[in-house]
Order: sequence, then structure tokens, then C-alpha cells
Amino acid sequence: MTAPQSMESLPTIGPTDSVATHCPYCALQCGMYLAGRGAATRVLANAEFPVNAGGLCVKGWSAAATLTHADRLRSPLVRDGHGALVPATWDAALEHTARRLEDVQRQHGRDAVGVFGGGSLTNEKAYLLGKFARVALGTANIDYNGRFCMSSAAAAASKAFGLDRGLPFPLEDLPRAKTILLAGGNVAETMPPIMRYFEAQQVEGGTLIVADPRRSATAQWARLHLPLKPSSDTALANGLLHVLIRDRLIADDYIAARTHGFDDVRRTVAAYWPERVERLTGVREADVVEAAHLLGRAPSVMILTARGPEQQSQGVNNTLAYINLALALGAVGKPFSGYGSLTGQGNGQGGREHGQKADQLPGYRRIDDPVARRHMADVWDVPEAAIPGPGKPAPELLEDLGPDGGVRALFVMGSNIVVSAPDALRVERRLKALDLLVVVDFFLSETAQLADVVLPSAQWAEEDGTMTNLEGRVIRRRRVFDPPDGVRTDLDVLTGLAARLGRRRQFTYHSSRDVFEELCRATQGGPADYSGLSYDRLDAEDGVHWPCPAATHPGTPRLFTSRFPTPDGRARFHAVAHQPPVEECDEEYPLHLTTGRVMAQYQSGTQTRRIEALQDLAPEAVAEMHPTAAHLAGLRDGGHVTLATRRGTATFRLKVTRSIREDTVFVPFHWGGDQSANRLTNGAVDPISKMPEFKVCAVRASRAPEEAAE
Ligand code: SF4
Repeated sequence: MTAPQSMESLPTIGPTDSVATHCPYCALQCGMYLAGRGAATRVLANAEFPVNAGGLCVKGWSAAATLTHADRLRSPLVRDGHGALVPATWDAALEHTARRLEDVQRQHGRDAVGVFGGGSLTNEKAYLLGKFARVALGTANIDYNGRFCMSSAAAAASKAFGLDRGLPFPLEDLPRAKTILLAGGNVAETMPPIMRYFEAQQVEGGTLIVADPRRSATAQWARLHLPLKPSSDTALANGLLHVLIRDRLIADDYIAARTHGFDDVRRTVAAYWPERVERLTGVREADVVEAAHLLGRAPSVMILTARGPEQQSQGVNNTLAYINLALALGAVGKPFSGYGSLTGQGNGQGGREHGQKADQLPGYRRIDDPVARRHMADVWDVPEAAIPGPGKPAPELLEDLGPDGGVRALFVMGSNIVVSAPDALRVERRLKALDLLVVVDFFLSETAQLADVVLPSAQWAEEDGTMTNLEGRVIRRRRVFDPPDGVRTDLDVLTGLAARLGRRRQFTYHSSRDVFEELCRATQGGPADYSGLSYDRLDAEDGVHWPCPAATHPGTPRLFTSRFPTPDGRARFHAVAHQPPVEECDEEYPLHLTTGRVMAQYQSGTQTRRIEALQDLAPEAVAEMHPTAAHLAGLRDGGHVTLATRRGTATFRLKVTRSIREDTVFVPFHWGGDQSANRLTNGAVDPISKMPEFKVCAVRASRAPEEAAE
């Protein structure tokens, strides 16, 4: 086999040194040190990194275990004539992949090849994957799993403020917010080190309100929990604004000076009096009024959303309703105040800025913007006309896989679609209908098991790069170790394939630093402008917040302080009305199903389900039901429940708990196969963001067949 042609070189470290880097998992991107080698590699706290100040959750502490895991792929695999995945040399696998991609495009057109990326890829990889799709393959069809994560919040923020950055303020502002409303996020479990900011807020005398169908670990921590019905966020937010207007607690001067469109919103929310909101949301009238007063009487207010309101077919409207609240309170752009969305995936922020999205070019530019297209044509050294137009967003791309839909081949990097996409059985059938499925991953994920070609890639500590955390802080990920023999970095894979597709000139880089420098040039003048950044600067400054348009620019921790990046500098209100979910409960499917995460697992579980310390804590998917609902279905705590929706069934161990609404079942989504939450979820999407309705569908609960027979 040909030796890997890595672009990178290792830092010079001895066996007792440690290297500063960041956790491979969520968007907090906690700082840590890695020390030791091989199986003796240890994670050490980095108390100097300001975001987590040494704190890590159990996923971070155990992250090194993935590096030397026995399941790691160490050779490309190509499916043979008998249907088996068999080892191949890199030359053979890349050549085979390039020729098959060319064949598909020759027979069915350039857009017959799709590319599917991920929100955990570094900025460099996200950028190069977008360039690979548009320049090497010439296909319009590239999108990524961040569509399933941040797209509703991104669309809403862009509509309201003219710019999307998850948190437009640094986390260090949280403790000085007098009242925080957190809608649909369980950060105490999903990113525990962030709780130090909420703890500090409490010490300062601040108040936390949590809106969530479950009395989650975070809700238990709050002064006020609003246990809303799944899919009633717009009604709740409109009801809160109704009370604020009624009780004269809105910021009239701010609304007049910095916004447009409030009169429409005022008219709309007039119909959301608290008694009606209680009927729509299940939240007690008195609690709606108390929450509104806690928000309206506080000198500094933050409204935060997470996947709860966002992962719905009304996700953009839900988010806009919460943004309306923040604008009416005059909070956006004010010190220790504002609206923000808590990004989930490791590079959920940077991953959506650099060209992985179907409609975007690097720097958060629109792909149909002629100025942006000319700029990128210059950077990529291609004719402007050669850059494809907008492609299909992820749900449409997946729906169109196979001969019927016209996308005949799919190249997947950093995503386990079989577990993470909604209506997973349908997606699995679509993947099997492809002429060619290529998966780049470091484990044989559920998606890789279906592939025709599997290319083994380097992991987080084996590659240099940058990530952008949930505050828009661009940070350095460092290559501490060489990838194992037989494994290449994603950048090596993309450049190797691009060369075989005749694009060597546009894909010649000596290191990821070269890719980052090109990325910075590509973003120059765009909304997410990185052009003042460099590896040396990021190393020296513990990260820099974008936009940063010049080497002498300090970066921008706080956005919108004096104007919004809209044509007239003002933010926009949007009048939005409550809509029911796509699937309402009925006699056959009488309960709401909602999905989410647990502390010891991450996303599709490809990595975390392989780590012993995490499996000890969360070995299987556990459904949660209220005692009343469990009793009605004849279910017992600790037994197994089979959940059925119009799309599929799955079986879970059952936890009976009073911390969830009587009409709602919760399941975590980190598992595949018979425990796959996404075999149940609804693929219906938000019309603007194309976000699937992960957070609510109708479900029936019954005893698992083997227990029913007892
Ligand atoms: Fe890693 Fe997120 Fe846990 Fe921090 S909170 S250690 S970034 S998974």
C-alpha cells in the first residue's frame, strides 16, 4: 500500500509534554491539554482557556479513548463483486472512487453526485469540501448535517438581524444578565461546563427561566420552569409579549429607534392573552404572567433558544417569536443582554459559514449573489460560470437519492446519516438505492456499513485546523499525533481525489495552514469575515471572534451594539402565529414524541458509543414517560416500551418519571438499529430553513413484544 501523503507535520513534543487543543465534541469547544502517547494518552484540564476555565464534561475527559480504539479503520475498504467490503490500497480506492464519480456524472449529469458534510468538520475541511463539490465535481448538490441542527436559528437571525452568529455576545456576559429565558435547551446535561456561567448569574442575584416539556436537569435548576406542550413555542413567546405590552414593560424608545415592524407584531400578539396561552401551551396562566414580569422588570435580559423550538416544522417562526421578545425588551445589542441560539455540534457555527450549505459560499455569502460569485471565482481561479448555483438542502438531497430522485452517488464526510436523519428507515432505503456511496469516517458507522467505498480518516488530535465555537470565537485545533498507519486526513482525501478528477492545480496545499489562509481570503468582505485571522494570531490570543476584517482588528465579541447589518441598520420584527405540529395526536397515536441528548453520548454515537466510560454511564437508549401515561399503556419503570409512529417502531428501556408532561414521551437519539429514535421522527420540514420536525410527532406506546408475552 502506498504510504499516506500527509500535508501536515507534527509539533515537536517530548513524552512528558502536553499540547493545548480542544475537545472534539460539542460547540462549547472546551480547552484541554493532551499528554502522553498511544494508549497512555491523557486529557488534562486547561484552566487558562477562558470558555471552560478547566471544566470538562465526561465526554471531554474520555475523548482520548477514541484515538487508539480497536474499531478504528486502518485501510480503505471497497465493496467487491460478492458484496463484501474488502481492504484496498489508497491508490486503488481513490482511483476507483474518482472513476466511478466520473462515470455517474458522465451518464447522469454533474448534479447526479451529491456531497454531504458535517457540523463537526474543522473550518478548513468544511471550506475544502465546499470547494471540492463546486470546483472538483462541479455539482450544486452539497449540504450537511448542520441543516438538522442550526438552520432554523440561522434563518431567523438572518431575517431579524441581517446576520446569524449563534451567540452575538461572549459567554462572559451571561452572569450579568438579570433574567435569562432559555427555551428548549438542557445545557446542564449536554454541555455541563457552561453551567458555571448560570451559577455565576445566580450568585449575582439573577433569575433563570426554562421552557421545556421536561423538567430537565437544567429546568430543575431554574427559578421558574414553563413545561410547555411540544410545538407550542410561538404561542408561549407571543403570550409573554402580550403581557409585556399589556403591562407597559416594553422598550418603546428602542423599538422606535432600532427596529421595524412592531405594529404587526403588536396586533398579532393581542390574540395571545394568558388564559388562551395556557390552553395552547399547557403552561399555567400565572406562570406566563410571572415569566413576563421577570423579563420585563429586569434591567438586562437574555433570551436563549436551543433545538427545542428550532427543530420543528415551525422552527423559524418559533425562533422569530423569541427574537420578537428580545427586540421588544430592547435587549439586542445592549450590554449583558440579547438574543442567542446555543449551537450544538462542535463546529456547528464555522461549519455553516464556509460553503457546505446548499445555498452558500465561504464567508456566509449567498451563492446567488453575483459579487460573491465573482470573488470566489477569483479565489478559486475558475470562471464564474463554472460555479454551480444553489443545490438541494439536506432533506431534499436525501429524498432524491437513487434513480427516481436523480442523485445517483453520494460522498459523505463526517456524518452518520442513517442514525441522525429523520425517518431513518426511509433514508436507509434511499442510500441503498444509490449507484455509489462513498463514506469518509474513522469508524465503520451505520452509514459506512452501507457504503461502496469507505475511506479511513484521521481524528481530531491527528490534524491541524480551526473550529468556531458557539460564541463565534475562532480557535485552534492542534495535531498532536500522526494518524495511524493506513489512515489519511480529510484534507489529504479531498486533495487526492480532486487531483484524480483533474483539479490538482486548484487543490495543491502544503498544510492546513495554507487552506486556512485561502479560507481567510475567501471570506474577505463577507458577513463572516476571517481575513484578519492567522494560525499565529489564534495561537497567541486564545481565539478571536469574527468578524475580524484586518490583522490589526481586535475581533468582534459583541455584535449589533450600534446598528444591525441590514440596509437601514435596523432589526426586523416578524409577526408569527401559533401553528399545530404537522402530526397531531389522535386515538391511534395519542402521545407526543420528542427527542434529545444525554450527557454521556454525542450526536449519532459513532464515537461515544465506543467509549467504555461513557457506555457505563449510558449503555442504551432510555425513554421517559410520566407515570399516568405509563400506567395507561400498562408499562412499568425499568421494563421495555415499544414506540410506534407512522414511520416505524423502536424499543427502549423505560424510565417512569414525573419530570415529563403526561402527554409526552422523550427518547435520546444517539443510537441506531432497534433503538433508533429517528426511525420514529417525522421528516416534515420547516418551509424556510428545511429543518426537519425532530421535536414532535404523534406516537403510540405499548409493552415490548417479548414482555407483552410474559
Ligand atoms: Fe467537550 Fe462539550 Fe463536554 Fe466541553 S461540554 S468537554 S466541549 S462535550
